[in-house]
Amino acid sequence: MSETPLDKPDPFDFLGIDSLLDAEEILLRDTVRQYVEKEIKPHVGDWWDEGVIPHKDLARAFGELGMLGMHLEGYGCAGTSATAYGLACVELEAGDSGIRSFVSVQGSLAMFPIWKFGSEEQKQTWLPPMAKGEVIGCFGLTEPDSGSDPSSMRTNARRDGSDWVINGSKMWITNGSIADVAIIWARTDEGVRGFIVPTDTPGFTAHDIKKKASLRASVTSELALDEVRVPDDFVLPNVASMRGPLSCLNEARFGIAFGVMGSARDCYETALRYSQERVQFGQPIAAFQLTQKKLVEMMVAVQRGTLLALHLGRRKDQGELTSQQVSFGKFDNVRQALDVARVARSILGGNGITLEYPVFRHMANLETVFTYEGTNEIHTLVMGQAITGLDAFS
Ligand SMILES: Cc1cc2nc3c(=O)[nH]c(=O)nc-3n(C[C@H](O)[C@H](O)[C@H](O)COP(=O)(O)OP(=O)(O)OC[C@H]3O[C@@H](n4cnc5c(N)ncnc54)[C@H](O)[C@@H]3O)c2cc1C
Repeated sequence: MSETPLDKPDPFDFLGIDSLLDAEEILLRDTVRQYVEKEIKPHVGDWWDEGVIPHKDLARAFGELGMLGMHLEGYGCAGTSATAYGLACVELEAGDSGIRSFVSVQGSLAMFPIWKFGSEEQKQTWLPPMAKGEVIGCFGLTEPDSGSDPSSMRTNARRDGSDWVINGSKMWITNGSIADVAIIWARTDEGVRGFIVPTDTPGFTAHDIKKKASLRASVTSELALDEVRVPDDFVLPNVASMRGPLSCLNEARFGIAFGVMGSARDCYETALRYSQERVQFGQPIAAFQLTQKKLVEMMVAVQRGTLLALHLGRRKDQGELTSQQVSFGKFDNVRQALDVARVARSILGGNGITLEYPVFRHMANLETVFTYEGTNEIHTLVMGQAITGLDAFS
């Protein structure tokens, strides 16, 4: 808790948002924050530069911290509130969006569909090792010709005796080549179904997408499925429509609405400290009116976005959060975070373009976050449809 006197707001928690969190939430938030400060921030600039991520070590560490599938109940998962999960996302993304993506994909996109739509046997088999970080998952929905409109997917599965045979390709799949298991969404005669595909199944191959200028501390892959054969009990039994993948995306987008406020906060705090130390024209640059305007705009955006995320978290915990409200959070918080990163970059001057500071890395990462999990435009249309009753998607 802040020890700042009442007449002087804390520059790092101007509105006193900490007072809206309970002791358990603050403990969890601080635990993740300490882990990120010690184990992620000192190294992530190099990982980003080299385009690598120590996924095995991170998976084990996140498993020990109880962060994989943390908001799911049972099967070795921590069973925290949705708000607590969101607060963890903030801290992870203050480290790097790629690190938060690693945890989001595992929990919200790979474990959640098994937890929500899987059989009891599938849950018992997969969730405990995934919660421990012993098994890494990925989520295959997007295809080369099917991005914002995933219902146009071509990947298909057909029944063959007691097996299913899957053919197709998936694009932009986070953790694709390092995953032990892939949740593959495919068109079938019965509707869109989710398949649990161990990645060593014959016919399954993954190739990394290289030369990325964003989300570099994260593996992104293209998957090919060529006559991939899985038994009938590898299909998720309890969904056969786009509701399956879309409900997973809703979970992940919720985490993003929180998470990006971590990147934005890190950019604001870096810029504030830098501006107090950097002297030009005989004064710290923080003393100039133009710089103060930038700092205040950043601080306001971070506080406002954090309040928004917290509001969504409380609604989710009360079972009242709609997918359109999640769109609101993803839409506004990501664009605000991008603005904060860009302004912070300008305050750091030339230093702002280096990886010595986290700002440019966050800024580049947020370009991905702007696009994945529903682009900014798609969330605009979701909310446009909600307020007008008219569908403007096509
Ligand atoms: C680093 C990274 C990691 C990712 N990880 C995963 C993952 O793990 N699993 C997975 O399945 N996918 C993943 N994705 C894919 C991501 O979800 C898609 O990139 C996203 O859905 C957009 O699809 P697209 O890139 O094909 O763009 P497109 O759909 O081709 O869109 C291009 C542009 O057209 C706009 N547009 C499209 N339709 C409309 C419309 N009706 N009205 C107005 N504008 C429109 C879009 O908003 C966008 O600006 C990842 C992407 C990236 C970059």
